[in-house]
Amino acid sequence: MTGILGHERTRATLWAALKAGRPHHAYLLEGPRGLGKRLIADRYAMTANCLAESPFEALPCGTCTSCRQILAGTHPDVLLLEPDTERASRAIPIEAVREVIRKTTYHRFSARRRFVIVDPVEAMLEPAANALLKTLEEPPDGTGFLLVSHNPAALLPTIRSRCQRIRLGAVPVERVRDWLIADHGRDRELADAAARASLGCPGTALSLDPEGLQKRAGLRDDVLAALGGPLEGVMALAVRVTQGARQEWATEVAALLEVVEDLIRDGVLLATGARVPTTAPHPDLQRFAGLFPDGLDRCSRAVQDARDDLEVYVSGRTVVEALLTAVRRELAACPA
Ligand SMILES: [Zn+2]
Repeated sequence: MTGILGHERTRATLWAALKAGRPHHAYLLEGPRGLGKRLIADRYAMTANCLAESPFEALPCGTCTSCRQILAGTHPDVLLLEPDTERASRAIPIEAVREVIRKTTYHRFSARRRFVIVDPVEAMLEPAANALLKTLEEPPDGTGFLLVSHNPAALLPTIRSRCQRIRLGAVPVERVRDWLIADHGRDRELADAAARASLGCPGTALSLDPEGLQKRAGLRDDVLAALGGPLEGVMALAVRVTQGARQEWATEVAALLEVVEDLIRDGVLLATGARVPTTAPHPDLQRFAGLFPDGLDRCSRAVQDARDDLEVYVSGRTVVEALLTAVRRELAACPA
């Protein structure tokens, strides 16, 4: 059974409320995708119902009947509302919401506490969300809501106001890296790249494709080399990434634009004193930090222009050349 990486303070608060027998009736777990919000919700429901002795002191046992049913998604008292992966729409249908509300009025089957897990809340369109409001405010005795949101700003204020909001922050990149190495047998260099690219979201770091990361790191080094060298290097790179027909180079050019955005973001992070840049360290990153803030703004605009131009231009090469030349000009104008 996978443990939860990080979020110790949040867990301490949530678990203490459970131990005291006074959990809030609705928690809203907020934070970026891949952070571990759903894992916390699942483990919370498991802990509340674990049949092992004193489960509140630690993580649930993961092996009792209740834990196993929750892990398998078959516990009759842990009700899930999530988008149906079989359907084209990513919305949680209002019928599903009504069905869950109906089930909360039944007696509990076996659980000490019944939970309704909604993942993510923003997948409920307004009518579905409105249908849930009354039960969310006053759930039947012994029933609690665990709501997961990647984008709480998109929720109805009436949903947010009925919940105790739990905001989850990023897990330190070093911890994500060490976890990938120790628990998932990842190679150190790839683990480091994945942890950085995930911005401290363990689930995201785990799902990133190592080969893609390696390729991206190579492309970044090429872009940095072209930006720091003679203009011919820029031309050569533009030619290289736009070989063949459009459908062949579209992905490569999109990756190059993202690499430039990574460099801009790292420049901002370094300039504003963030502890670690999100991509691997490189001596030239300091030059991007030197462009903060106006030069980096202009670079961002150049990336946006490149995206717009790609919609209308036939030649990817011209667009890539224009972008890299613009960024190179900013770097050249800034004293190292
Ligand atoms: Zn258990």
